[in-house]
Amino acid sequence: MDFQYDLVVIGAGSGGVRAARVAAGYGAKVAIIEADRIGGTCVIRGCVPKKLFVYASRFSDMFDIAGGFGWTVDAQFDWPTLVRNKDKEIARLEAAYVAGLEGAGAEIIRDRAELTGPNSVRLVKAGRELTAKYLLVATGGHPNVPAIPGMELGFTSNEAFHLEKLPHSVLIQGGGYIAAEFATIFAGLGVNTTVVYRGNRLLRGFDEDLRVGLDAGLRNRGIKLIYETTIRGLERQGNDVLVHFSDEIDAPYGGVMFATGRMPNTKGIGLEAAGVALDANGAIAVDKFSKSSVPSIYAVGDVTGRSQLTPVAIREGWYVAETLFNNNPLAVDHSQIGTAVFAEPEVSTIGLTEAEAATHGDIDVFVTRFRPMMNTLSTRTDRMMLKLITAGDGGKVLGVHIIGPGAAEMIQMAAIPMGMGASKADFDRAMAMHPTAAEELVTFKAPSYRYRGGAKV
Ligand SMILES: Cc1cc2nc3c(=O)[nH]c(=O)nc-3n(C[C@H](O)[C@H](O)[C@H](O)COP(=O)(O)OP(=O)(O)OC[C@H]3O[C@@H](n4cnc5c(N)ncnc54)[C@H](O)[C@@H]3O)c2cc1C
Repeated sequence: MDFQYDLVVIGAGSGGVRAARVAAGYGAKVAIIEADRIGGTCVIRGCVPKKLFVYASRFSDMFDIAGGFGWTVDAQFDWPTLVRNKDKEIARLEAAYVAGLEGAGAEIIRDRAELTGPNSVRLVKAGRELTAKYLLVATGGHPNVPAIPGMELGFTSNEAFHLEKLPHSVLIQGGGYIAAEFATIFAGLGVNTTVVYRGNRLLRGFDEDLRVGLDAGLRNRGIKLIYETTIRGLERQGNDVLVHFSDEIDAPYGGVMFATGRMPNTKGIGLEAAGVALDANGAIAVDKFSKSSVPSIYAVGDVTGRSQLTPVAIREGWYVAETLFNNNPLAVDHSQIGTAVFAEPEVSTIGLTEAEAATHGDIDVFVTRFRPMMNTLSTRTDRMMLKLITAGDGGKVLGVHIIGPGAAEMIQMAAIPMGMGASKADFDRAMAMHPTAAEELVTFKAPSYRYRGGAKV
C-alpha cells in the first residue's frame, strides 16, 4: 500500500519534535501536526518558563544575604516585566524549533489530529485525512484538576505563567516537584505562600533526607506547609477565593493553584478507533522500542506515562527514529534517570534512595551537612546536604542525593560515573576542587553509617 508519508507525528513537543527531525534527517517523508504552539509543554508552559521564573524568584535570597557582603539593596519587583521578557524568550525558542524542523525537511501542519486507523489520521480543522507507514503519538499530558465544587476558581501551571498580576497570597495544592517549585517562585516574588498536601511531606518517593531538607528550607523562606489535608471546595469571596479545607477550616487566599499531578493526553484522539491499548493509568502502553499494541503506531513522552521528563521524551523520540528509519533498533534505558526540583533549596537525585538501597543488600551511607559558604556572612541557617550511597564496604555507587545550591548541576555530572558503574574508589580518585560543595562527593572518608542485613548499624 502507498502512504502519503513515512511518518506522521502528532504533537510538536519534546518527543515529537526530536523524532520528526531525526527521521527527516534520515530521508523519511515526515509531517508533524501541532494543535497549539511548536515546542510543547517544556518550551511553552513547562521547564523553560518555569526555570526563568525560578531565576527571578532567587534574587530575593540574594538580596537577603547581600547585606553581609556589604551591599545595600533597595529592590523592587515588577511582574509584567518578567512575564513580558519570558514571553519574548519563549517566542525566540519556538521560532528556533520551527526552523529546526523545517531545516530538517519535516512538514509542519498546524491542526488538531485524530487517529482514524493504524495508518491514518484526520486533521480536525482542515477536515482531511493523511496516511503514513508509521504514526507517532507524542501528545504529552495536561494538569489534573480535582473535581471539587468551585474548581474553576483555581488555576494550574498552564495559567501561572500568564497571571495578570501576582496574588497577595497563594495556596498551592500538591506534593510533587511542580508544587515545590511554584511555592518557591511565588514566595521568592513576595507572595504569601501556603502549600497544602494530603501526604505527610512533599516529594514522595525521594530520599527521606531530601524531603526533610526541603521541608525545612521552604519553611525558612516563610512558606507555610499544611500536611494530611485536602481542599473540599472553593468559593469566590470578593477578590479572593475562600478555601474549604478537609479539616473543616475555611480560609481566603488571593489565588489557588492546583499542582495535583498530570494526566496523559489520550482522550479524544482516536486511540480506540486505531485499536491502541492503554495501561491501567490511562497512558499508552508501549514496549521497550516505544511501539504500541498496533505495530504501525508508536508513542513517546508523557503520553506513555513512563517518565514525565523532557530529556526522556527527547531520547524516546530519537530512538524511535533510529529504530524505524536508520535500521538501528534502540531501546531507552529508564533505569537510572537523574531528576531535579528547582525549588529553593534546590533538590536533585539519581539512583536508589537510602530506603530502597537498604532493601537490596548491605550498603554504606556517606552524608555531610553544612552551611553553604555563600550564606556564611549572613544570618541564614539553611544547610546543604550531600549523600552518597554505595554497596557495602565502599563498593559501587548506588545513589547520590543533594539539596542545596547547584544540586542539579552536580547530579548531572554524577550521572556520568554512575552510568559507568563507578565505585566509591572511582569517585575518590578525582582530585577535589576547593572551595566547592561538590568536592564533598570525592572526599568522604568513613561511612556515616551502614546497613547490614537490612538493619542500620
Ligand atoms: C510546570 C512544568 C514544569 C516542568 N519542568 C520540567 C523540568 O524542569 N525538567 C523536565 O525534564 N521536565 C519538566 N517538565 C515536564 C516536561 O515538560 C514534559 O515531560 C515534556 O514536555 C514531555 O514532552 P512530550 O513530547 O511528551 O509532550 P509535550 O511537550 O507536552 O508536547 C505534546 C504536544 O502535543 C500537542 N497535542 C496534543 N494533542 C494533540 C492533537 N490531538 N493534535 C495535535 N497536537 C496535539 C500539544 O499541544 C503539545 O504541544 C515540566 C512540566 C511542567 C508542566
